[in-house]
Amino acid sequence: MIRIESVTKRYPDGTVAVDRLSLEIPDGSVTVLVGPSGCGKTTTLRMINRMVDPSEGRILLDGADITEQPVNALRRSMGYVIQNAGLFQHRTIVDNIATVPRMLGWDRGRARARAMELMERVGLDASLAKRYPYQLSGGQQQRVGVARALAADPPVLLMDEPFSAVDPIVRGGLQAELLRIQEELGKTIVFVTHDIDEAIRLGDMVAVMRTGGKLAQFAPPDELLSAPADEFVEDFLGSGRGLRRLSFFGSAGLELTTAPVVPADADARRLAECAAAGPAYLLVTDGDGRPLGWAPAEEAAHHGLDVQALLPHGRPFESGRDSLRDALDCAVLSPTGWAVAVDDTGRVVGVASQEAIATAIRGAHARHQEAERAKSARGAADGSSDGAAPGDGGSGRSVDGERAEGERAGAEPTDGAGGKKRDSAGGAARAAR
Ligand code: ADP
Repeated sequence: MIRIESVTKRYPDGTVAVDRLSLEIPDGSVTVLVGPSGCGKTTTLRMINRMVDPSEGRILLDGADITEQPVNALRRSMGYVIQNAGLFQHRTIVDNIATVPRMLGWDRGRARARAMELMERVGLDASLAKRYPYQLSGGQQQRVGVARALAADPPVLLMDEPFSAVDPIVRGGLQAELLRIQEELGKTIVFVTHDIDEAIRLGDMVAVMRTGGKLAQFAPPDELLSAPADEFVEDFLGSGRGLRRLSFFGSAGLELTTAPVVPADADARRLAECAAAGPAYLLVTDGDGRPLGWAPAEEAAHHGLDVQALLPHGRPFESGRDSLRDALDCAVLSPTGWAVAVDDTGRVVGVASQEAIATAIRGAHARHQEAERAKSARGAADGSSDGAAPGDGGSGRSVDGERAEGERAGAEPTDGAGGKKRDSAGGAARAAR
């Protein structure tokens, strides 16, 4: 655990970059520092590895003041990734990644073997090993930066706007890759960004900072979205907060129906039966149960199916894995207003109406509120400081308890804003923390 205790940084010219900041950064999870430019994020990150020293306050790593250990040993325990990767241009990719192991005295063969292993881990093809940084794309260079930071297997990773310089699609891929690596390695990651969507997608905990180096709120992303501490946080979160929050509600409890689902080779009797149940459209599936498209029910009942003339089924959502936001998105974009639910192999498991999705959303909100009430009641009963004001640095706050509570309540957080934060196995692992 990294504990920042009432830290202030005043630069020689009098600028107060960080003002009495207190934060508890839990082990094995991603803590994001987010806020507008100049609010003190980088200064905070650099104080953790002593590239900058605080003017007041102290920082503890596993209970020990970081000034009490040699600065080189401290930095070796913390991988550091920056924007544009900061690679050594005159060294090959494999040698860039092997830098820290070589500094630690590993022989060349062992250091290179480790570098090759890390290239695979961060999704880089081994054929790139002998290239120089300028021969790689921006996204590939960032992956090298992550691999280099991981080379000596440090318990902590400090990441300063690592993905900000690449285009949104590459950035999305890098974020997904980081989450995948984190599922495997469980590092303590402190991640700086000015992008609130990135913060919500990546963070287990998010510290929103405001200009003047003050902490505005420190909370899990779903709590930020549901209960911003003040107007500044609300403005910073931007529009669509309610919709984005739906990303934290799983689709497992959503009521699906298979009544309007028919195979392409359905006979006239089956089509007539399905149409008689009243749906305006039937969802037609292929021989494997995969969606082909929608057919108007009346027409199908009278004239049979014309699979060449089906309405597009749109992008389906994966039942149980995708969020209610994904399901709603599918329904809104569907030409029939119905969302198509598939399993992990892409086979149709049912369809959901917009009404069913609305009911599921209401249910998820109600369960979440109930869980919050139960939590406050418990907090009041045991005299804990759970009700502490947001922004107090998380003192006494049980992060795990909050996450687990939401899940027990059936809210089933699935991910950050991106909708794919967790795979099903990883999701369970993250949720269990
Ligand atoms: P952020 O990472 O949130 O953009 P920084 O931590 O880089 O913010 O900077 C916080 C504030 O401190 C800014 O006003 C910045 O101009 C100032 N600052 C940063 N480094 C120095 C420095 N070396 N000397 C003086 N002021 C600095």
